[in-house]
Amino acid sequence: MSIDKAQLAQRLSREAFYVTQEKGTERPFTGEYNDHWEAGDYHCVCCDARLFTQAHKFNAGCGWPSFFEQTDDSNVVFREDNSHGMVRTEIVCKHCDAHLGHVFDDGPAPTGQRYCVNSVSLSFK
Ligand SMILES: [Zn+2]
Repeated sequence: MSIDKAQLAQRLSREAFYVTQEKGTERPFTGEYNDHWEAGDYHCVCCDARLFTQAHKFNAGCGWPSFFEQTDDSNVVFREDNSHGMVRTEIVCKHCDAHLGHVFDDGPAPTGQRYCVNSVSLSFK
C-alpha cells in the first residue's frame, strides 16, 4: 500500500510527518502516549493498521511509549538501522512503511523486547 505523501503532509501534524516519513524522533517525555494507560489499541497514524495494545505497554522510563510485544496482527516489521554510528533495529509499519521507532532487547519478560515508539506515530483507539 502506498500513501500519498502530499495528503499525509496535510493530514498529519508537522512532527508526525517528520517522524513517520523522515525517520525523526520526538523529544523524550513530550509525547502524548508516554504516560498514557487507558485500555485500547494503538494504530498507525498514517494508515490505521493496528500495531500495539495497552496490555503490552509498560513503563520503561525512557520517555517514549514502550511495549514488550506487538499485536498478533504482526503489522510491525524490522529493519537494520546503521545510522548515527549505531547498529539498531528500526521498526516500521508493514503496510505503509511509516517509521515508528526502534526495538531493543532490554525489555521485560516474557519477550525481553522493548519496542520504543514515538507517540506521534500512533493513534489511540
Ligand atoms: Zn501504517
